[in-house]
Amino acid sequence: MAASQQLRHAGAGSSMQGWRVPRSAMTAVVLATLAVLAAMLSVHTPVAHASSNPLPFPNNKTRYDYIVVGSGAGGGPLACNLARKGWKVLLIESGSNYTSDNASVPIHNALSVEDPGQAFDYRVKHYDGGPDVQYPRAGVLGGCTQHHALIAHPPHKVDFEEIAQLTGDSSWDPIQMRQHWKSIENCSYSPYPGNPNDHGYRGWMPTAQVNLAKPPLELDSLITIPVLSFQNVSKGKLNDYFDPFNYDDTDKEGHFIMPTMTYKGKRYGVREFIMDTVRRFPDNLHVMTNTHVTRVIITPDTKVAVGVQYTRSLNNEQLYGASPMATPPTPGNSVNGSAFVQREVIISAGAFNTPQILMLSGVGPREVLQEKNITVLVDLPGVGANLQDRYEIAVVSSTLVDFNYPCRDLYSWCRESLDKNEQQSILSLNGPVLGVTRKSNASLPAPDMFLFGSAGNFTGYRPGWSRDENLRLLHDRWTYLLLKAHTQNRAGFVKIQSKDPFMPPNINF
Ligand SMILES: Cc1cc2nc3c(=O)[nH]c(=O)nc-3n(C[C@H](O)[C@H](O)[C@H](O)COP(=O)(O)OP(=O)(O)OC[C@H]3O[C@@H](n4cnc5c(N)ncnc54)[C@H](O)[C@@H]3O)c2cc1C
Repeated sequence: MAASQQLRHAGAGSSMQGWRVPRSAMTAVVLATLAVLAAMLSVHTPVAHASSNPLPFPNNKTRYDYIVVGSGAGGGPLACNLARKGWKVLLIESGSNYTSDNASVPIHNALSVEDPGQAFDYRVKHYDGGPDVQYPRAGVLGGCTQHHALIAHPPHKVDFEEIAQLTGDSSWDPIQMRQHWKSIENCSYSPYPGNPNDHGYRGWMPTAQVNLAKPPLELDSLITIPVLSFQNVSKGKLNDYFDPFNYDDTDKEGHFIMPTMTYKGKRYGVREFIMDTVRRFPDNLHVMTNTHVTRVIITPDTKVAVGVQYTRSLNNEQLYGASPMATPPTPGNSVNGSAFVQREVIISAGAFNTPQILMLSGVGPREVLQEKNITVLVDLPGVGANLQDRYEIAVVSSTLVDFNYPCRDLYSWCRESLDKNEQQSILSLNGPVLGVTRKSNASLPAPDMFLFGSAGNFTGYRPGWSRDENLRLLHDRWTYLLLKAHTQNRAGFVKIQSKDPFMPPNINF
């Protein structure tokens, strides 16, 4: 991309000036070019290598200490940590133990969102009577961490302070929470010893960052000259300079190169942690995949959860209606069963499914349950209420000159380096390289907006968006995606629309 490239749209151009980012215009060129290369290259890549490996079915006579429902970012690590501490844990996941190049190759993360082997393809409303809008989730071992954009960004200190204050529990203190982060992180991009930004190095979750001093490809001087010149300003520590994890800076506005949850160039996260725990603690962690929990078993007198009921596919198929590959359960293709606990049942089935399971179990707003003829065990109006969205607005601009991008034959070169487990490959990037945090109002204690820039023409989620050639083939398009947190709208809700546990609920933001 030429450094002199101009933006065609006045709106986009002026807003870029308004942000006064990045710290160096030349750096913007570098970052942008890397992102362009990354996004462009994913256009013609064949996607192969999909696999679904059922885990051995556990002996259903085991009496577990804990049952964890849902293996995503919440449930997966919790189940693993309990098992590693010696408890007997059953982890139940509705989706398969599925993976594919879409999931494991970072640059394909858009394709992974619509991969039918793992998609929960929800439709939601943004207001009563509004259109049905696609709202992607993943139903698979690892949950949405198997299709998310791999971005590892530190939480704001003020958020933890607020939780500590609300709960009166000082263990939420941000200094302690940073220690928790360090205990799970295995950072590969910031030097140890030295560790200026306070990373962890022994945890299960790897974090990586594109190495700016040694970009993935031998590119022309448009890349190398600005990189080298910026290196002088940052005293040779480019990656530390753009690292969002500097503890003193986490609540400030800034621009970053976003670390990704990757190891040796590939997606690595909750799924791998679960598989490693099953391997090392086979007696403590049992995992049931393609098993959909239909109800929590609650003793009516004591209101204590003692177990769960589930339906398990006999053919490793998806049973839940949100999956595009769902096969409705029949006596021929599935079995019903139950499992019991001595200590706790933990429901971590995501923002839409957790309230659905609770309502089906008789826990939720009385009027919703009665309308569906469900016996009310606990009248809890908050179940399914207060659903909040984090709005995403895309600003697409076009340039006078097409972006420069490498010839597509590089795919095989990159694939080779990825197969050799090398971190530095275009395929190992997640596309959006430059991240910006901003406050929508100067008086806010921390940024409430997160923006990232990426080559391409992203205009929002709709069926087929990830395969739309215009997403990447318009070589003069650049998208800034603006994510707005801390919405004022708390009127969103999830409500069951049927007693049928395989039918997705009504979701209205
Ligand atoms: C497109 C996209 C991009 C994202 N990008 C990022 C990013 O870059 N960085 C980041 O940090 N976060 C990102 N996120 C957010 C992050 O992935 C989620 O916040 C996180 O995964 C939520 O974790 P969870 O455990 O609550 O739910 P989930 O990850 O949704 O896991 C819930 C699990 O429960 C299972 N389940 C549901 N119902 C049942 C049932 N009845 N029985 C058994 N199992 C059930 C589901 O199959 C699923 O596996 C992204 C999310 C999306 C959708």
